[in-house]
Amino acid sequence: MRLILLGPPGAGKGTQAHRLVQRNGIVQLSTGEMLRAAVAAGTPVGLKAKDIMASGALVPDEVVVGIIADRIEEPDAKKGFILDGFPRTVPQAEALDELLKRKHLKLDAVVELRVNESALLERVETRVAQMRERGEEVRIDDTPEVLSKRLASYRAQTEPLVHYYSEKRKLITIDGMMTIEQVTSAINRVLAALVGAESAKAAKKAGGKKTKAAKKAAASPVTKAAKAAKKAAKAGSKKAKKASKPAGKAAKSPKKAVKKAKTRAAGTKAAKTRKVAKKVTKKRAKAVKRLTKRR
Ligand code: ADP
Repeated sequence: MRLILLGPPGAGKGTQAHRLVQRNGIVQLSTGEMLRAAVAAGTPVGLKAKDIMASGALVPDEVVVGIIADRIEEPDAKKGFILDGFPRTVPQAEALDELLKRKHLKLDAVVELRVNESALLERVETRVAQMRERGEEVRIDDTPEVLSKRLASYRAQTEPLVHYYSEKRKLITIDGMMTIEQVTSAINRVLAALVGAESAKAAKKAGGKKTKAAKKAAASPVTKAAKAAKKAAKAGSKKAKKASKPAGKAAKSPKKAVKKAKTRAAGTKAAKTRKVAKKVTKKRAKAVKRLTKRR
């Protein structure tokens, strides 16, 4: 399984990534941690990143793309990975697409943890206090001033990825304001439905036999909701049918799912127009090529 965790600083990406690692037997690849290790070791990358990180700005795309390209080649990443803190810009996301395509690997989902900004400062302050209590070294960018700069970087450079992955139908949005346990369960439910849908597809191809995972997922409330949405969409317009299909947000009830399918259908036309307008320019394609060359 290959996942991306998306969310502002303090959204809980690290906590959830850790749990996903244990449950799914995959590795967590955190560019923040890798960069901090590089800074501590005084490597050339570390020297480049040190002051940028301390200010709350983003390290240049080519640096992080290089790190990730090498890291996903490692044997422990073969079974799957969770990217935490990467990609953080549209060019990084495009470079990742290119890397995965070249390696014939598929991205399963992008889990966005959505939180109220007002809660973030408090969360980071709590994290700092807990780290001090445990006698751990506190990150130099965990101060209120740098945090507001990190949040501004997130808003300006990373938030556009929500749209980017939603267009690709990879986005799963989870309410990050729930308790840690509830967030974990919500993520697990949606991922189980996703895996189930994949195995059902594979089983259908292989002759209609349902795998264990597919049977389990078929019984899950998320899948039932998705099925109800599909049925409703079938009865409605073709557009609604199309919109209800892939791995978008998982609705909690069939009613909500139906509503969601309809709303999405209404957005399809607008999305198409946006897509045309956003057609990758030659310049951008060149930039991606440059970021991923020799990888
Ligand atoms: P946060 O808690 O803000 O999500 P991280 O540990 O992920 O923190 O990252 C810390 C810092 O490392 C960032 O503020 C940024 O300077 C740098 N960094 C991490 N990942 C990336 C990336 N993908 N692109 C650019 N800079 C990055």
